[in-house]
Amino acid sequence: MSFGPSALRGFQVSGTGGRVEYRLARNAVVREFRKGRLSRLEVCDAHPELLRAARNVGVPFAESCPICEETSVVHVTYVFGPRLPAHGRCVSSPQELARLCGRADEVACYVVEVCSGCAWNHLARMYPAGGRHRRAAGHAANGSAQIRGAISPARQHGRTRRLR
Ligand SMILES: [Zn+2]
Repeated sequence: MSFGPSALRGFQVSGTGGRVEYRLARNAVVREFRKGRLSRLEVCDAHPELLRAARNVGVPFAESCPICEETSVVHVTYVFGPRLPAHGRCVSSPQELARLCGRADEVACYVVEVCSGCAWNHLARMYPAGGRHRRAAGHAANGSAQIRGAISPARQHGRTRRLR
């Protein structure tokens, strides 16, 4: 089974007018884990492909993993849209992200928080780009600003759906 849209909790390409932050949902999961209502197996279930992406192209995030508290989490961005792979394009560089966000086609970018140490993972945010969002995200199309935004600790997180 490959990592795909269905692997991201709350995944939706259409019908989302704008940016969606998942920090509250993410914090709720962490709270449940700390109370012992969720096991480590339940929250540290990143798909092998997601873990590989985290190790290879993850953008370091200055926050340690809320579960193992040993490893810093990274952010991995997947972009979905017309003429992109059905399972999304895993973004490998700020340049690639800028290119994807500058497309004439509207795309949806999903940022996932991942710990490559314990396999904790949670959706951080989703934001539309490309198409009519190109102008609004003009600074984003240049890459670095978007990446900075993508890794800001003030941003929010969401959890990816478990893969079985
Ligand atoms: Zn961890």
